[in-house]
Amino acid sequence: MTVKILLVGENPDRAGQIEQLLFKADIADFEIDFIDMHLKDKDLLDKRIADVILFDLAISDNPDLKFLTRLINNSSDLPVVVLSDLEDDILAIQAIEEGAQDCLLKNQINSRYLALSVLNSIERKRKEKKTTRDFKQTLEKLKKANKKILEQQKSVVEEERLKVLLQMAGATAHELNQPLMALLGFIELMEIDKNNPDKLPKRLARIQEAGQRISAIVNKIQTIRGDDIKSYVAESTFVNLNQETAILSVENSDIDFKVISGILKDLKLFNLTRVMDIQGAMDLLERNSFDLVLLEYILPDGNGMDFLRLMRLKGFEIPVVVITGHGDEMIASQMIQADAYDYLTKDKISTKSLSRIITNTLEKARLKLDMKKVQEKLAEMSTRNELTGLYNRRYFMETLQREVANAGRYGHKLSLCIIDLDHFKKVNDKYGHIAGDMVLKEFAGMLRKSVRQSDVTCRYGGEEFTVIFPNTGVKDALFVCERFREMIAGHQFEYNSSIFHVKVSMGVALYSSSMDKSPLDLVDRADKALYSAKQEGRNRVKEAKAT
Ligand code: GH3
Ligand code: MG
Ligand code: MG
Repeated sequence: MTVKILLVGENPDRAGQIEQLLFKADIADFEIDFIDMHLKDKDLLDKRIADVILFDLAISDNPDLKFLTRLINNSSDLPVVVLSDLEDDILAIQAIEEGAQDCLLKNQINSRYLALSVLNSIERKRKEKKTTRDFKQTLEKLKKANKKILEQQKSVVEEERLKVLLQMAGATAHELNQPLMALLGFIELMEIDKNNPDKLPKRLARIQEAGQRISAIVNKIQTIRGDDIKSYVAESTFVNLNQETAILSVENSDIDFKVISGILKDLKLFNLTRVMDIQGAMDLLERNSFDLVLLEYILPDGNGMDFLRLMRLKGFEIPVVVITGHGDEMIASQMIQADAYDYLTKDKISTKSLSRIITNTLEKARLKLDMKKVQEKLAEMSTRNELTGLYNRRYFMETLQREVANAGRYGHKLSLCIIDLDHFKKVNDKYGHIAGDMVLKEFAGMLRKSVRQSDVTCRYGGEEFTVIFPNTGVKDALFVCERFREMIAGHQFEYNSSIFHVKVSMGVALYSSSMDKSPLDLVDRADKALYSAKQEGRNRVKEAKAT
């Protein structure tokens, strides 16, 4: 297959030179088309077919960076690689910040490096597009969950007593409205930024945050009594009443149980089990699965609060509806705060009220579950660590796997460094966890600035970090690590007017196709080198030994 390159620059002669360089690399077939960056009719660009754009800053006194930005935004499907003929080029760094896939400085424009960069950029862009697609799917799910919340809210809003009831729950309409608006706003921004995957994790985090706030408020709204809200099950698509629902009644009063079981028997849709006390309930919940618990507040071995505490302790997530005596609204409200879903006073128990409260509670429970799944999905898809902004461990492993495969296939060098902060526990012990977090954040920022854009910096674990150095031999990697180690050792960290120092140990390993049968072998060798750095007194960089 021929890789089609569109060279955007000032000098058409460069097309020939670059074609020759790529030909010499002998990795793939390349075909180059040239377009002048100062051309008036830049729309011409849209009509050319290419796999990748090379943006040539070389020998330009007057590079059109605005054009580059437009180029990256408009050709969002195409990867852009920037070429510079300087050793250290601020414009080139800006180009990366604008979204270019790679930037090659003067000493990197040799045939093999150039060819690999072009091919890697195409591959990376392909993966980015896939991630964007995945994000969109999650977004759809989130929108659906949001719609359900809105529906639920709408039904609540229709109630005349909304205001009073909301106040009882400690929530105001304003409270719910603000995160909802934020949620919708960020969803809209995601649409606008859909071609800018870098911004997506941040947006997703904000959406997640708004979702969590909404979820917390929805929980509070649940103080609204079942017999006071209209049933909206008919409009719902996710409560299937044709299925039998397993209900556990925790009720020691025979009279009360008779009322409840009589009603549920008439409804025929519920499979009811009875226990007399908390202990009996816990034993049963341990072994059987239930969809809902109807809980009498006063029980022989404790009260409703004790029951909820035990549920939380044991990690049971079954929705609980509390049955209280007359006029116990204060208790009911406390129970809601403690995570009960709803409550019903004994004088209000009727076929209508009980069936409504059960269906509403099941619906709320499912909504909560949906939200949780979406949140889990979002967390799973994110590639960045929240505290430090560096890539997370999952992304690190994926990238390492890819880079090891590339290094194996094309025979280029690859180095890996694992970093562990020395005696970091002492920092926490002496200055507190928040100070520790601040150090990790600042440290991460310094690490990212100390390596090239193409090096991949990750937070591997608590106070452990990794750097993947593609196309880098061990000498260069050791040099960069040593320079960074010195920089950290000399740096003053400051927290609440305390000044302190932090030191680091590092292990560096060069990928070897004979020793590293899998990426984990490479990690293991770097880890062992790190271990010996610690053994030899810390605050040092050690190279992995050939085994
Ligand atoms: P060593 O030189 O042997 O690595 O000593 P150490 O104290 O750094 O080693 P150890 O692995 O025993 O402890 C690591 C500590 O890092 C434990 C934990 O308190 C701290 N830590 C891990 N993750 C975080 C975090 O996210 N925030 C904060 N503040 N501290 C963290
Ligand atoms: Mg550690
Ligand atoms: Mg440590």
